[in-house]
Amino acid sequence: MSETEPDLAAIVRDIAAEMLTRKDRGTVATYIPELANVDAQRFGLAIVDVAGNVYAGGDSALPFSIQSISKVFTLTLALGRIGDRLWRHVGREPSGNRFNSIVQLEHELGVPRNPFINAGAIAVTDVILSGRQPRETLGEILRFLQFLADDTTISIDQDVAASEKRTGFRNVALANYMKSFGVIENPVDYTLGVYFHHCAIAMSCEQLARAGLFLSCNGVNPLTAFSVVSAERARRINALMLTCGHYDGSGEFAYRVGLPGKSGVGGGILAIAPGKASIAVWSPGLDEAGNSHLGRIALEEFTRRTGWSIFGP
Ligand code: GLU
Repeated sequence: MSETEPDLAAIVRDIAAEMLTRKDRGTVATYIPELANVDAQRFGLAIVDVAGNVYAGGDSALPFSIQSISKVFTLTLALGRIGDRLWRHVGREPSGNRFNSIVQLEHELGVPRNPFINAGAIAVTDVILSGRQPRETLGEILRFLQFLADDTTISIDQDVAASEKRTGFRNVALANYMKSFGVIENPVDYTLGVYFHHCAIAMSCEQLARAGLFLSCNGVNPLTAFSVVSAERARRINALMLTCGHYDGSGEFAYRVGLPGKSGVGGGILAIAPGKASIAVWSPGLDEAGNSHLGRIALEEFTRRTGWSIFGP
């Protein structure tokens, strides 16, 4: 190992050991009742570098609810489907509001700020659904993740999906509001059904890090040499993750971690170190902005030790 190459195995081991003992673990999301049952003591971390080496620690093999991290992959699919026409349905600016906020939608005539807030992700799901049946669309999203992670065991947690459907009144309001502006094309129930189910996909840190690897390598999966998206598209998805991936905590995440990242209320974060690695971390307790509390701290420690922040060491 050269002096400039960080010892990833040691870094992962140290971070996992520290995080498992910390008392400040944030608060597990309860607004989706099924997520409230998850053990706040869990912590997992996995790194897959561009050579395909895997470094993993803690509960890195345990599947958890990826929730909004799925939005990176639905965005990729929607861009593949309609290209830049997607930007007629959704914007590209940070929202500065909570993940499920409705306030901006009225001023902006039902076009959500970005693809990662709930309203924006629902609009993206609607684009993928157009011309298809909900079941087909969901199958396509799931198979895309299985393909990227090279793992056909990845599945949807039906209990989480049902739990979210039962209590997702805010998302129902967002979708109906957008529908009133003509931004949602399909029946609201269909679009939300697909949205709730793709948020309920369960994956482990190792599977997630593998699935994100194409974003670290100019759109190509270095393990299979398969080109998932163009280099330009990968760069732009990373830009959106950096500016919008942590809702109203995106500035703080960029400041502290300095990597494109996407969080989910299940406590996962997918972070991309361009040219180096894909990193997934999971700790179920959230901070006030709805992002994994220890996940962010672990990634901050990770970029401090590796010097891999995109803004410099
Ligand atoms: N399925 C969640 C919701 O719509 C996703 C939110 C998140 O992970 O941030 O409320």
